Amino acid sequence: MNGPLADGFGREVTGVRVSLTDRCNFDCVYCHNEGLGDTRGPMEPDDNEMTADDVVRFLEVVEEFGVEKVKFTGGEPMLRQDLEAIIRRTPDSMETSMTTNGTFLPGRAEDLREAGLDRVNVSQDAIDPEAFAAITKSGAYEQVLEGVEAAVATGLTPVKLNMVVFKHTAGYVEGMVEHAANNDGLQLQLIEYMPELTGHPEWNIDIQRVHDWLADISARVEHREMHDRTRYWIAGDDAAPGARIDASNGGMVEIVDPVENPTFCANCHRVRVTHEGYLKGCLNRNDDLRSMGEMSRDAIRETFRETVANRVPFYGEYMVRDDNDEWVVNDAYVSPPTAAD
Ligand code: SF4
Repeated sequence: MNGPLADGFGREVTGVRVSLTDRCNFDCVYCHNEGLGDTRGPMEPDDNEMTADDVVRFLEVVEEFGVEKVKFTGGEPMLRQDLEAIIRRTPDSMETSMTTNGTFLPGRAEDLREAGLDRVNVSQDAIDPEAFAAITKSGAYEQVLEGVEAAVATGLTPVKLNMVVFKHTAGYVEGMVEHAANNDGLQLQLIEYMPELTGHPEWNIDIQRVHDWLADISARVEHREMHDRTRYWIAGDDAAPGARIDASNGGMVEIVDPVENPTFCANCHRVRVTHEGYLKGCLNRNDDLRSMGEMSRDAIRETFRETVANRVPFYGEYMVRDDNDEWVVNDAYVSPPTAAD
């Protein structure tokens, strides 16, 4: 096995995010579908989706390049009935996780765990059935809560609850923080809203306010260099006064704030794979998609090498600040006009 491949900015690629489908049974108002835009369609299996064999072959090849982690995403990856089979065939050396809306976890969490899944992230944007229904355009709130319970019970822990923080959810942040602090096996990831991918800049809220509020109420704050992320440890209601807070008597809350954050991009170690078998070097770009064609081992190897060699940090390199302090595309990445233009 080779060591991880690095791009021209010294960023080694140690993880892949593999979208198994772009189908989804929810219709969240902020969805960006892995940066591809809104392509939700019918729920039936789609001919364009990578087969289980394609996915496994891809993972076996990138394992040769030192990739240690895979996260299965969508759409909703649990709409794939062969998900357990894919996970069973995922190389043993890889840490395997999944991002799901949780609806299908009751009844399948145990099989997934047995197949080799290590952890799940479950999207939960509010602790209120009505708000949840309005955001996801779905009435599956109870099923999602049951799904989270099933995941915790079967040991897919820590279960990370993903909450996108924007105008519609800001009022539920406090409730979700309390929920994570008082329930075993849960962590909360507050994800900055991405207006550049989802539109509606008016839904944006200042994420720094959330940082400041969490810093105020935390029992303990840790800073992780990787991704420039801060972890806030919140005491549970039963924590003894003065006790050191950890997962046994409280909960951890992290803010994922990649927007306009060059440090976050400088620490980006993941390549994405679309459900159709294209490699994508950066969430925010669709001008660097590379097809893996028929997905032979050689084609995967070559396309993966090219993708890594060409990936650049989005903020700080692809996007730079102009004289007015606005983010603009770096001239180096603007294609020169052609005679046809
Ligand atoms: S380079 Fe930045 S914007 Fe692109 S995927 Fe990585 S962290 Fe996200």
